[in-house]
Parts: sequence; structure tokens; C-alpha cells
Amino acid sequence: MLIDNYNRKINYLRLAVTDRCNLRCNYCMPAEGIDFSQNDKLFTIAELSKLSEILVSQGIDKIRITGGEPFVRKDLMVLLRNLSKMEGLNEISVTTNATLIGPHIDELKALGIMNINISMDAINRATFQKITRRDQYDIVHNNVLRLITEGFKVRINFIALEGQNTEDILPMLDLSKHYDVSVRYLEEMPFNGGSREFDGISWDYKRILAYIKEAHPNYEKLASEETSTSINYKIPGFKGTFGVIPSFSRTFCGSCNRLRITATGDVITCLYAKACMNIRDILRSEASEEKVKEQILKAIGSRAKTGFEAQQKHKGVFANSMTTIGG
Ligand code: SAM
Ligand code: SF4
Repeated sequence: MLIDNYNRKINYLRLAVTDRCNLRCNYCMPAEGIDFSQNDKLFTIAELSKLSEILVSQGIDKIRITGGEPFVRKDLMVLLRNLSKMEGLNEISVTTNATLIGPHIDELKALGIMNINISMDAINRATFQKITRRDQYDIVHNNVLRLITEGFKVRINFIALEGQNTEDILPMLDLSKHYDVSVRYLEEMPFNGGSREFDGISWDYKRILAYIKEAHPNYEKLASEETSTSINYKIPGFKGTFGVIPSFSRTFCGSCNRLRITATGDVITCLYAKACMNIRDILRSEASEEKVKEQILKAIGSRAKTGFEAQQKHKGVFANSMTTIGG
């Protein structure tokens, strides 16, 4: 079992498979992209499978595949097939922008990979295009509806961005009126790779909740898992639910159960901390299995207690882009 230095059990791995993406969301990276990693610096699918297997043997029972955009990797389904056979791995989920998922929906269903988080920060076409800097609205919209109607557990991630998409907060919430979907409103975090200035947020989770309350005063709080980063609610009569994720306010650090590994092998034990080591070359070396276990134990043995503590220690961390971290 993986237990950190504050006695928190780490059973959830967020594994990035690439830092590339076919969108350019302005809260995530600059219009011109970032300095993307060379292919030989990225884990191969065999390495990602091996790494997952080692970590599952150590107590990881939930893996979320992220990126960059995971589906830009042509061989992603090979990894997902391997993971779906892995004993001890109870939950596999994917975070995606839903532009390229269409051809894989049937196979995902057949593999039992039903938990899909989709970044969709606007219901209005022009707003969507402005934020993502790409013309993919129809494809994303269609894939979202298809996933919902095919029975996937879909969660929409919507970042509330001052001056950009806040008029879409309520229209997006309406999706949960008609469909069994969870719409989660996230606070913006400063990891945009220099895309734009960041000097705090004006839409924190409290403001988002107060805004929703004005339209739906009788929403009810739902019970959530202790390790959940979202605080979840239901509006009477709605088929789905909604939630807020205080990703910048960081109210959830005390129960954090996550480990992040980037597509190039950086090990990140807190979103607000820099990578504490790189595991790629260790995994590539001989006798890697014991070494990987040893290094991961070392990493989680010196985690920051909270994101605020990590931020204090790691001054340059805000220069990062979320496309390399994986969210
Ligand atoms: N491309 C996929 C997607 O967009 O869903 C997966 C990678 S993306 C980096 C993972 C998550 O990070 C998404 O839910 C996205 O909304 C979130 N994210 C990216 N930049 C962010 C930021 N500056 N603040 C808060 N969340 C961010
Ligand atoms: Fe791409 Fe996801 Fe970042 Fe948007 S949030 S640019 S879809 S990696």
C-alpha cells in the first residue's frame, strides 16, 4: 500500500500519455502551443502498461488517463486494452476534450471503460471556439450526446472564466436537467504555460454556487467520497447532478489520494509542486521494477501537506502548462 508522510493512502494515479493536444484552450496553453516533447522522451505504450502494473501491485486501484489530449495518441486503445485486463485495477477513466473519441466509443464500452470526463467550457459555439481556438464545436457536442445516450458516466468539466464563459454557466447546467450527466464547475488554476496573465480568480467555487443558487435556490447537497475533489449537488427534478471543484481554493488537500505521472515520466505529488523526480529512465533500465517501487515510495514519503505549502516551496511552478501536467 502507498501511504504518504501525512498518512494519506495513495490509490489514484493520473497518468498522462502525451503532452500534445489538437485544441489550444486559452486557460491551458498559448495559441502557438508549448515546446512539446520529442517522441523518444514519451513513454511507449509497453512502458505505460508496465508502469501501471507495478503501481497497481503497490496499491493503485484507480487510473485516470489524461494528457494533453489522450486520443491524439494513435495507440491509446492498446494501453486501455491492457489496463482493462489488469487485476486489482478497479476503475479506469479518461479525461478528454471529446474531439477524437468518436471512433473508439464502441470499444470503450466493450472494455467497460465507462467513466469519461470531458472538458467543455461553453455551450455557445462562438464562446467554445474562442476558448479552444479551434472549430470543433459540432464534433464535441455530438460525441458528448452520444456518450451520454450510450450509458457512459459522463462528467463535464467547465472552468468558470471571468469575461469569457460565465453566461454559459446556467445553460450548461441545463444539460443535467435533461440528461444523467454531472456538470462540474472548476476554478481556474494558474497553469497556462504563459498563455495569459493570471492574478487570482474572480469566480471561486463560492461565487459559482451563489450564482447557481439564484436560479435554483432549492438545490440539495449530495454525499461525496471523502477523497472527492468535487462538492456535489442535485436540483430537484433534474436527471443529472452538478458539482464545484475548488481547484484554486484547495479545500480538499487534506484527503488527497492522487499521484500524477506525466507522459515523460515526471512524478508529481501535488498539482502545485514541481516534479520531484523522473521515473522514465529508471523504468527503462534493467531491474527496473524494484527501483520504480523504491522511487515512488520515496516520492510519496515527502509530499507537501497542502497545495499552499507546495506553492510556497516551488516558486516557478506557475510557468507550467496543464497540457504537460494532465489536470
Ligand atoms: N485534453 C484533455 C481535456 O481537456 O480534458 C485532458 C487534459 S486537460 C489538461 C485535463 C483537465 O485539466 C481538463 O479538465 C482541463 O479543463 C483542466 N485544465 C487545464 N488547464 C486548466 C487550468 N488552467 N485551470 C484549471 N483546470 C485546467
Ligand atoms: Fe488540450 Fe485539454 Fe489543454 Fe484544452 S485543456 S488545450 S483540450 S490539453
